Amino acid sequence: NPASLVQALFHLGEMVTATQSVSDEVLELLGQEMNYQVQVVSPEDEDRELLESFDISYGENDGDESDLAPRPPVVTVMGHVDHGKTRLLDTIRKANVREHEAGGITQHIGAYQVSTELEGNERLITFIDTPGHEAFTAMRARGAKSTDIAVLVVAADDGVMPQTVEAINHAQAASVPIVVAVNKIDKEGANPSKIRQQLTEYGLVAEEYGGETMFVDISAKQGTNIENLLEAILLTADAALDLRANPEMPAQGVAIEAHLDRGRGPVATVLVQRGTLRVGDSIVGGDAYGRVRRMLDEHGQDVAEATPSRPVQVIGFTSVPGAGDNFLVVEEDRVARQIAERRQARERAAENARRAARKRISLEDLDSALKETSQLNLIIKGDNSGTVEALEDALMKIDVGDEVELRVIHRGVGAIKEGDINLAIADNVIVLGFNVRAEGKATELANREGVEIRFYSVIYQAIEDIEKALKGMLKPEY
Ligand code: GDP
Repeated sequence: NPASLVQALFHLGEMVTATQSVSDEVLELLGQEMNYQVQVVSPEDEDRELLESFDISYGENDGDESDLAPRPPVVTVMGHVDHGKTRLLDTIRKANVREHEAGGITQHIGAYQVSTELEGNERLITFIDTPGHEAFTAMRARGAKSTDIAVLVVAADDGVMPQTVEAINHAQAASVPIVVAVNKIDKEGANPSKIRQQLTEYGLVAEEYGGETMFVDISAKQGTNIENLLEAILLTADAALDLRANPEMPAQGVAIEAHLDRGRGPVATVLVQRGTLRVGDSIVGGDAYGRVRRMLDEHGQDVAEATPSRPVQVIGFTSVPGAGDNFLVVEEDRVARQIAERRQARERAAENARRAARKRISLEDLDSALKETSQLNLIIKGDNSGTVEALEDALMKIDVGDEVELRVIHRGVGAIKEGDINLAIADNVIVLGFNVRAEGKATELANREGVEIRFYSVIYQAIEDIEKALKGMLKPEY
C-alpha cells in the first residue's frame, strides 16, 4: 500500500509523498527493497512487445539484403516564416511532370511525389507537404522518423533568422542531412553569398567553400533553378544515405495526416516506408484499424498499390489515426482490431498515469537521474539574443567537475512554443524561459508530457538552480 511504499522510500533516503513521481532508478531501488524485480519499459518497447506477441516486428525490413530495393528520398521543407516554404512546395508541385501525365489538379493530401531526371535516370522524390518543423518534430517526438532530407529555405534578402536556426537544430538533432535553398534571388538586395557565409557558423559549409552542404540559389516565385534543387536533393541522398526498403513485405509506415470526411469517413494519408500497401489489406494505424477500401494519390486518382516512400490517402479506417502514428498491415482484420484495442487500453492507462504523475524529469529528480546520464540537456528561450547568449555563456561556465556535463541543445528568441516542447520530449530536456512566457499550447503539451519549464528573469538565479541541479544538491520540495 502507498504508506508502506513511502516508508520504504524513506529508508532509502527518498522523501516522497504518496502521489509524487519518482525516477526510474528510484523505482528499481524500491523494487529491490521490496523484493520485486522492476523492469522499466518505454512506450516504444511496450509497443514492440505488443506487436511481437502477434509475431510482428515494426520498423525493420524483413528479409535479406537481396530483398532491398532503392526507394525515393522523403523530404521536409523547413525555414523561417515568410522565407518561401509554401511557395516552394507549390512551385515544385506545379512543375511536376507526373501531374501533366495524370491530367489532374494536384490536391493537398499531406505529401506528394515528383519525378525528375538525374544522369539520364528517372527518379522520384517525396515531399512532405506541410511546411515548417512543427509536423517534423511532432512526429519525431512520437518516435516516427518520417524524413530523410531537410530542405532549408533561407530568403536571400533577409538572411538567417531565429526559425532558420531552430530548423537547423531540429534537423541536426535528428541527424537529417540538409540541402540549403537560397530563395528569392529575384529580389533586389538578394545576397546569396552572405547566406552562405552566415550558415558556416552553424556547420553548414557550402561545397564551393570546401564544405559538404549543397546550396542552390532559387526563386520559388519565378521557378528558377527548381530542377537544380531537385538534383541537389538526389545527390545528397545518394552521397549520404542508403535509402533502400523491402517492397515484398506487408506494408509499414507512418500516418502523415488524417481527418474525418463527411462523405468518406476517416481519411488518412500514409507514407509507406517499407513493403507494399494494397487495396484490401487489413491495416492498423496507431489505435485505429480497418481495411483499405480505396487508395488515392495526390491527383485524386485511384491507386491499387503503393510501394516504399509513396504517400497515399487511405479510405477504410473505422476511426481517425493520429498524425505521426505508425501504421502496419496485418494478416487479418481480427488481428488489426486486437492490436488497436490493446493500444487504446494502453493509452487510457497511460493517460491516467500521466494525470497522477505530472513530471517526467524535474530538477529534483536529477540527483538520481544524473548518476546514469551524467548529462543535463537544456533548451533556452529568451527575450533577445543577447540575454540568451549571456545566459548560455554563464551556464557553460558552471564547473562541477568532469562527471556531469551540461548541454544546450537548442536556443532561441521568443516565447516557448510547441516546437520547443516537442524537442524537449524527444531529447528529455528542461526548458528555461528567460523573460519570456510559454504559449498556451506549449504549456498544455508540457503538462501532458511532463516536460519541465522554468521561468527566470534574473540570470544568477537560473545559474544557481542549474548549478544546484548539477551538483545534485536540490532537495525535494513539499
Ligand atoms: P512561408 O511562410 O515560408 O511558407 O512563406 P511563403 O511561401 O508564404 O512566402 C512568403 C511570401 O514571400 C509570399 O508573399 C510569397 O509570394 C513570397 N515569395 C516566396 N518565394 C519568393 C521568391 O522566390 N521571390 C519573391 N520575390 N517572393 C517570394
